[in-house]
Amino acid sequence: MNIASLGRRIEHLIHTDPSVLASMVFDSGFSCQRCGWCCRENFSIRITRDILRPSNAVSVFPDDVRHIIKNTGMQWDEIAEPDIYSCLSDGNIIWVIGWILRRSREDDCIFYRNHECSAYEYRPLICRCYPFFMGENGVEVMYCNGMGNKMTPETAAEIGKLLKKYELKKLRNYISIIRQMGDVLRLSSLRSIPGDYSGEIILCDGEAVSVRRL
Ligand code: SF4
Ligand code: SF4
Repeated sequence: MNIASLGRRIEHLIHTDPSVLASMVFDSGFSCQRCGWCCRENFSIRITRDILRPSNAVSVFPDDVRHIIKNTGMQWDEIAEPDIYSCLSDGNIIWVIGWILRRSREDDCIFYRNHECSAYEYRPLICRCYPFFMGENGVEVMYCNGMGNKMTPETAAEIGKLLKKYELKKLRNYISIIRQMGDVLRLSSLRSIPGDYSGEIILCDGEAVSVRRL
C-alpha cells in the first residue's frame, strides 16, 4: 500500500456511482435487528502472528469523535482511545495509528448500553456502514444477524452513499498517515501494546501528530 496505489483507488471510487454500491447492498438484504452483536467482543482477529485484535475494536476518524462530542458533551478521552492494536515500534518510540472507541469493563463498546446503541443517532461512520465494507471485489459483508431481511431501496441507497463516503475518507486518511509517519511505517515494525501499558506514545491520526501518555 503506497500513496500512488491509494490515489488510484480514490480516483476509481470518485467515479463510482453510489447506486452501484446500493444495488449490491440491496441484493444482500439487510435490516438491523439491534442485537448488538457487532458492538460486543465476540472473537479476536489475527492481524499478525503476535497481534490479536478484538472484533469490536472500532476504528474511528477524529471527525466521528467530534460529532459525538457535539451531541453528548462528552470529553474526547471518554469516547476514544489510541488504537493499541495498531502500533509501530523500533524498540524505543511507540507510534500509534489512529483511534478506537473506548470499551467498557465488559469489553462492550462504551456506547452499548441496555442492549442497544446509546449513540445511534450520532454513531461513527463505520457503524453506519456495518455490516458492509468495500473489499477487492466491491461491497462485502461481515457477520451480521440482520441479513436476509427485507430492506427498502431508500435504505440501500443511503448505505451505498455512506460506503462511498467512508471508503474515500479512509483512503485519504491512509495517505495522510503515510505522510505523517514516513519511514517509520514498515509492516515489520507492527506491534500491539498491552492494555495496561503505561508510557509515552506518538499518535498519528491523519490530522495531527501528538505525543500522549497512556
Ligand atoms: S448490524 Fe447486524 S450484528 Fe450489528 S446490531 Fe444490527 S443486526 Fe446485529
Ligand atoms: S457506537 Fe453504537 S453501533 Fe457503534 S459499536 Fe458502539 S454501540 Fe455499536
